[in-house]
Amino acid sequence: MSNYAESPKVKVGLEIHRQLDTRHKLFCACPTDLAESDPEEKFLRRLRPTQSELGQVDEAALFEFHRERSVMYESDHQTTCLVELDEEPPARLNDEAVEVCLSAALLMKADPVDEIHAMRKIVIDGSNTTGFQRTCVVALDGMLKVDGKNIPIQQISLEEDAARKTGQTRDVVGYRIDRLGIPLIEVTTAPVLESPDEVEKVALAIGTVLRATRKVKRGIGSVRQDLNVSIPDGALIELKGVQELEILNKAVEFEISRQQRLLEIRDELRRRGVQPDIIERKYTDLTDLFVKSKAKVLQGALTRGGIVLGLKLPRFGGLVGKELAPGLRLGTEMSSHAVFWAGVGGIFHSDELPSYGITEEEVRRTNERLDTDPQDAFVLVADEISRANEALDAVVDRAIDALKGVPEETRTAMPDGTSRYMRPRPGAARMYPETDVPPTPVTDELIRKLTATLPETAEAVSKRLMEKHGLNQKLAKQLVDSDYLELFEQITATSKVQASFVATILTETCKSLQREGVPITSVSESKVKAIFGLVDEGSVTKEAVADLLKWQARNLDSDTREGVKELGIKMLSEEELERVIERHIENNKKLIQERGQSAFSSLMGSVMSEVRGSTDAQNVSEKLKQRLTQEVKG
Ligand SMILES: [Zn+2]
Repeated sequence: MSNYAESPKVKVGLEIHRQLDTRHKLFCACPTDLAESDPEEKFLRRLRPTQSELGQVDEAALFEFHRERSVMYESDHQTTCLVELDEEPPARLNDEAVEVCLSAALLMKADPVDEIHAMRKIVIDGSNTTGFQRTCVVALDGMLKVDGKNIPIQQISLEEDAARKTGQTRDVVGYRIDRLGIPLIEVTTAPVLESPDEVEKVALAIGTVLRATRKVKRGIGSVRQDLNVSIPDGALIELKGVQELEILNKAVEFEISRQQRLLEIRDELRRRGVQPDIIERKYTDLTDLFVKSKAKVLQGALTRGGIVLGLKLPRFGGLVGKELAPGLRLGTEMSSHAVFWAGVGGIFHSDELPSYGITEEEVRRTNERLDTDPQDAFVLVADEISRANEALDAVVDRAIDALKGVPEETRTAMPDGTSRYMRPRPGAARMYPETDVPPTPVTDELIRKLTATLPETAEAVSKRLMEKHGLNQKLAKQLVDSDYLELFEQITATSKVQASFVATILTETCKSLQREGVPITSVSESKVKAIFGLVDEGSVTKEAVADLLKWQARNLDSDTREGVKELGIKMLSEEELERVIERHIENNKKLIQERGQSAFSSLMGSVMSEVRGSTDAQNVSEKLKQRLTQEVKG
């Protein structure tokens, strides 16, 4: 069921970033694994781009820079060197990463560039110690066939990953720099995708190509997807950081719905005759109304010496609270703008009040003081005086934009598929050459070598899995589309566990565990192998595998054998099993008399619910059948 009206002219472009599993980072010899220990060093910095760089910084970046934030970097010797600390120039581009990227490009029929040049992309949120991210175009103009349709791949690039955020207070942002410099491959499609489903299919197909190189990382955080979405009469919206493939189509759907609802709000405002000039920048000090308020946010601000300011939004009544996507309202958008531009905690709007400890009486008196009509809305903000004023300026700006429809902007994807305002869309001049890194030539010889050793395509792998392991087509395809193909091959190469069982666990079972909210992708490959090892040596049955995986996901660092103990998984001896069967036969005499052999499935169900995980289902079935036949014959 879709949340939006079908619109034939939706245009979506997809940008997939995936970490490469190379031995070293992109510009130094550090490993590409994240730190497992606590940081050894911390250092505080304030980013200061040079004047020449500032000349190229766009408005949004400059704004963030002026926000006077310091950055606390955390590092350790295992995962970082002087390059990440920006105390030593970068080494030349990592050859292994270049080759992986070129192989993927060739699989997508793209044209490699003659020479790879590193460029600097300005980033002033502190996620790069240098103040920029290094990025290199490796190939252009590829093509990927998805469901019979040719999807143009505009560009394939190599980038360095940014540091990962560890926290944020009003004045300090924290980053762990272990991730900084891990190679990322970036694949950009042309903005030609037409539906949420198509976006998901294309993402899946790109993922399959990247995995074919056998040199990409998997699991949470290894893939990030950016989208740009536009609808007719809407605007081009950049949507950053969709983490999971599963919510990609939701993210597109919610963005379409958000733009459509904003257009409806625009039309309604026009019907109500709202013009930009009737929204006055007149802010009323309402502090005296709220000195005794029970609202915690207001109280907190007042104790810190702040004020409560009110703003009337003429004829916006009912529209500020209108839902744009689940949990997202025009009021949420106004609030995000106030947070971004003024650094306040948020705003309250009349469509959501009384609530949050603000009483009906306080709402009534606010309306009275702001001289509102029933069709009007109002916004409240509490903070120190200059911040509160800036916050309401940002709200007025957003309200005026509502009259135009959908403002162009960059948004952050949330885990539920909705998004929040992040910043204005950056201008074009965000890149300039990285002079510390020499260009890397892409020779014909290298391309010939890579072309001759291109990885197996997804179809070829599927075919091989069906032939060698006897998997059916559906299971083979699921495995190729999953992150676990390599793990499957390792497990089946080293154990006698049935291949189709391993494949089912790694695809269907893992997927359904994930849907249940079990963090299954965090379980390390070695732990998964250990679980199958227990099956292989006969210590646990196949029936216990799902439970053990679930247990392991909640006890990531514990030994799998502890799980066997804790879950009370033990193998029944043949005699013990026979005793259990005997008991069930005794307890169901009447049923057996009535139904004869057909009592089997009911008995099998009740026996299995008692012994599942501690004996093989096949064995139970055989023994029970035998015993039942004996019983029926009397
Ligand atoms: Zn390093």
